[in-house]
Amino acid sequence: MTYQNFSLAQLQAIDGAHHLHPFTDHKDLRAAGARMITYAKGPFIYDSEGNEILDGMAGLWCVNIGYGRDELAEAAYAQMKELPYYNSFFRCSTPTPVLLSQKLAEISPPNLNQVFYGSSGSEANDTALRLVRHYWALEGKPQKNRVISRQSAYHGSTIAGTSLGGMNAMHGQLYGAVPNIAHVMMPYAYELQHAGESDHDFGLRAAKAVEDEILRAGADNVAAFIGEPVQGAGGVKIPPASYWPEIQRICRKYDVLLMLDEVITGYGRTGEWFAAQSMGIEPDTMTTAKALTSGYQPLSALFVSDRVASTIVEKGGEFFHGYTYSGHPVACAVALKNLEIIEREGMIERVRDETGPYFAAALKERIAGHDLVGEVRSFGFLGAIEIVKDKATKERFAPAGSAATLVRDHAIANGMMLRATGDTMILSPPLIWTKEIIDMACERIVKALDAAKEDLAKAG
Ligand code: PMP
Repeated sequence: MTYQNFSLAQLQAIDGAHHLHPFTDHKDLRAAGARMITYAKGPFIYDSEGNEILDGMAGLWCVNIGYGRDELAEAAYAQMKELPYYNSFFRCSTPTPVLLSQKLAEISPPNLNQVFYGSSGSEANDTALRLVRHYWALEGKPQKNRVISRQSAYHGSTIAGTSLGGMNAMHGQLYGAVPNIAHVMMPYAYELQHAGESDHDFGLRAAKAVEDEILRAGADNVAAFIGEPVQGAGGVKIPPASYWPEIQRICRKYDVLLMLDEVITGYGRTGEWFAAQSMGIEPDTMTTAKALTSGYQPLSALFVSDRVASTIVEKGGEFFHGYTYSGHPVACAVALKNLEIIEREGMIERVRDETGPYFAAALKERIAGHDLVGEVRSFGFLGAIEIVKDKATKERFAPAGSAATLVRDHAIANGMMLRATGDTMILSPPLIWTKEIIDMACERIVKALDAAKEDLAKAG
């Protein structure tokens, strides 16, 4: 039986009766009913009622090569027929994760040559945390186990991921976080830069918050600093150019490992394979997932530096950690094909040289001037639009987040999928967007902003 035999109302009733959704107020969802996305092709998604929506979020920051790629389906089909599953435990391996590891070592920064697989970004960050602490224990410094993160960071939804992250609402539901994780100031210029402070100085001040925490805790107690190159779910917060070099310098000075979370930024989104390359960062661990398979299969790869890997291998003993689906052959086959397509179609270079700069200019020229918009910013194919009541004072509408939600709803009604986080609209298009599609997106966003402005004016 296929879903076509069910009406939307029937599917919504079953959904409400049996399906608990992620990041959802279930009472609210059951009252409203879920939109059923049933088909997707290229840059568009389609719902059960036949509405075509331009997907400004690449699913959830993952469908970098766009929807409907037969080659990925064929790669999965062929692998499933030959070997649908076998594990990489107990001195076994399968060919696809082996070959994928080689490819990943080729495209990653030079000091990252080993990968550990999981099925999600959250799992990869759990692994990274365990690995980093284990590294220091093997180095004879088990007390060097504290990790420094940032406010509004997002590193996943497992207990370790939530503890590493800096989302207050999520911490409120932790009922016991992983210990020894501190959260410091984020490099969010729009709200935190002082009047008269240069971008450069603001970046250094935000990085100094990390150094202050290292000094407070004692460098001998600090294992690592973790950060997203651009804070994604927290609102596409792009640090000033001075921030990451200073973080790198501080980490080296105090022998603190640098854990980079590239779950969103990896695989082309910033105009290089990884933001580490766009920003000149040399991490000790690098977490990736999402666009590794363009979301066609669940797969994560944690990159481990030569320094950390050599201790794990040489001083080793068993690392008691792994997942049933670590190195899943089908997911790895899909990843290999996905990376081949990204390369073959020159998607990363196009974002770097052509569509990324066009996207940045379009946001500035067509969106930034709108009465509801306090700022636009972008980095490669990551974009943000700040929604404000007053452009000059940056005053927001009350209650917090309501205006951005209104813009999002109008955007969807105008055929444009955007996400609202707090009072920031975020965009993470697939890398296949052309200049024409960027124009289409801007037109629809302006319509949504106009409609929201009208509603907000009526509401007073
Ligand atoms: N890290 C970052 C930076 C993310 O954006 C996300 C997911 N949005 C995760 C980790 C967690 O990944 P997953 O949802 O696959 O567990």
